[in-house]
Amino acid sequence: MQRFGLWLDGRWHETDRWLEVHSPYDGSLVGMVSAGNAQVVQQAVEAAQRAMAHPLPPYQRAEILARAAHLVEQRREDFARTIALEAGKPIKTARIEVARAVSTLTFASIEARTLTGDVVPMSGAAAGAGKFAFTVREPIGVVGAITPFNFPLNLVCHKVAPAIAAGCAVVLKPASATPITALKLAEVLMEADLPRGWLNVIPGSGGEVGNALVEHPDVPLISFTGSAEVGWGIRARVPHKKVLLELGNSSPLIVFEDADLETAAQAVATHGFSHAGQSCISVQRVLVHEPVAETFERMVAEKVAQLAVGDPLDEKTHVGPLITTTDRDRVKAWIDEAVSAGARLLVGGEVEGTLLQPTVLADVTPEMKVFCREVFGPVVGITRFKSIDEAVDLANATEYGLQAGVFTASIHNAFEMAKRLRFGGVLINEAPTYRTDQMPYGGVKASGNTREGPHYAVREMTVEKLVILNGVNL
Ligand code: NAP
Repeated sequence: MQRFGLWLDGRWHETDRWLEVHSPYDGSLVGMVSAGNAQVVQQAVEAAQRAMAHPLPPYQRAEILARAAHLVEQRREDFARTIALEAGKPIKTARIEVARAVSTLTFASIEARTLTGDVVPMSGAAAGAGKFAFTVREPIGVVGAITPFNFPLNLVCHKVAPAIAAGCAVVLKPASATPITALKLAEVLMEADLPRGWLNVIPGSGGEVGNALVEHPDVPLISFTGSAEVGWGIRARVPHKKVLLELGNSSPLIVFEDADLETAAQAVATHGFSHAGQSCISVQRVLVHEPVAETFERMVAEKVAQLAVGDPLDEKTHVGPLITTTDRDRVKAWIDEAVSAGARLLVGGEVEGTLLQPTVLADVTPEMKVFCREVFGPVVGITRFKSIDEAVDLANATEYGLQAGVFTASIHNAFEMAKRLRFGGVLINEAPTYRTDQMPYGGVKASGNTREGPHYAVREMTVEKLVILNGVNL
C-alpha cells in the first residue's frame, strides 16, 4: 500500500482528507493520497505564480524535461506496475504507455529549445516600409491541467511537459481513480531539478478541486482531457478563458472489399479491446463492405475469442477490467439492449467478476447506443455498407470526430475517405487507435477544439507578442 501527500510548492503536504485508490481488478487497496480542496488550489496557484516570477530560460526547461525523460525510462517498470494497479491496464499495454511518455517528454524538451516567433514581412505593404517586426512567444500564465484515468502517465505528460517547455507553471488535478502515477511523475520532475512551484499536483474530486481550478481568476488556460460532457461544461462555465479540450469519440474502422482482411481483422481485435476499450480512439464501430462482410465477421470473432482476459499484472493478459463495476454494468446493459434490438452476438457478452468478456456484435444499426454513443468498453459493433457513399454517411453519423481508420487497397477510396470523413485524423490502412506523441492529435465536433503533441500544445500555451521597430530598412 502506497501513501502520498499532495505535491504543493515543491513539498509533500498531508491534508485531513484522504482518497483511497483501489485496483479495478480485485478491489484491493493500492494506495492512499491526500486530497485537496479550493483553499489548496488557491495555495497551488499562488506557488505557480511565484515560480513564474523567476522565468526559467529555455535551455534549462529543455534540460529538465530531457532529464525527466531519462528518469521515467529508468523507472519504467515501477510506472508500468503502478498504471496496471490503479488503472487496471494490462501490464504489457502499460509498458507501451510509459515508453510513449518518455517520447512526449523528449519532444517537449526539443520544443523548449527551438520555440521561436516569426519575422513579419512588414515592407510587403506600402504602410510597412521602413519598419521591421517580429513576434516572440511568451508563456500564457499558470496552466490548469485536468486529466482522465485511462492514460494516467502519458496524458499527464502531454499537459505538464509542453507547459514547462512553454515557460508556464502547472497546477494539475489528476483523475481520482489514478492519482498515484501523477504524483510519481512529480517526484521524477523534482529529481530532474524542476524548481519548486512549477508543478503542483492536487488530487481531489472534479466537482471541488477541478472546479476551483477551472474558476480560478489567475489561471488563464485550462487544458482538459476527459469526457465530452464534462469538457464542454467547463468551456461553457468560463467563456473568457482559453479552454483546450481533448474529448471522447466513437471511432470507426472502415473495411473495403479490396482491403487486406487479415490485417484489418487483427487491427479490430487488438485495438478494440486494449485496456478493455477504454481509449478515446479505441475501435468501436466496424463498417464493412457487404461482399466481404460474412468472412470478415468470422475472422474478427475468431481472433477476439482468443484474447486473454484477466489480471492486469499477468503478462499474458490483453483485456483487463473496466475502471468501475458501474461502467461494467452500463456497458453490459448497452450490449443487451443492442441484442434485443436485433444485433447478433458473435462472441462475448458475459460478465465474470469485474471482467466483461470482449464482445463483438454484428448487424449493429445507427440508433443503437453501441453505435451512436461512446462505449468506452470492450465492445465492437459491426455494420455492413454497400457503397462508398453509405460508408461515409455511416462513419460520419456520430456527434464525435477524433480519428477514423480505413482499410483499402484503392488509392481512390483512400483519398475519397480522407476528404469526406469529418474527423481530426484519418488513418489509411491503420487502426484509428494509432498515435505517436509528436503528431497533431485532436478532434472536431464534440471531440474537442485543439491539437496535442508538444509542438502544437506549446503554441497553445504561449501568446505571440508583436514587436515593431520603426526606421529600419532591412
Ligand atoms: P471524466 O469523467 O470527464 O473525468 C476527466 C477529469 O475531469 C477527471 O480528472 C475528473 O475528476 C475531472 N472532472 C470531473 N468533473 C469535473 C468538473 N465538474 N470540473 C472539473 N473537472 C472535473 O473522464 P474519464 O472518465 O476520466 O475519462 C474518460 C473520457 O476521457 C472518455 O470520454 C475518453 O474518450 C476521454 N479521453 C479523451 C482523450 C483525448 O485525447 N481526446 C484521451 C483520453 C480520454 P474525477 O476523476 O475526480 O471525477
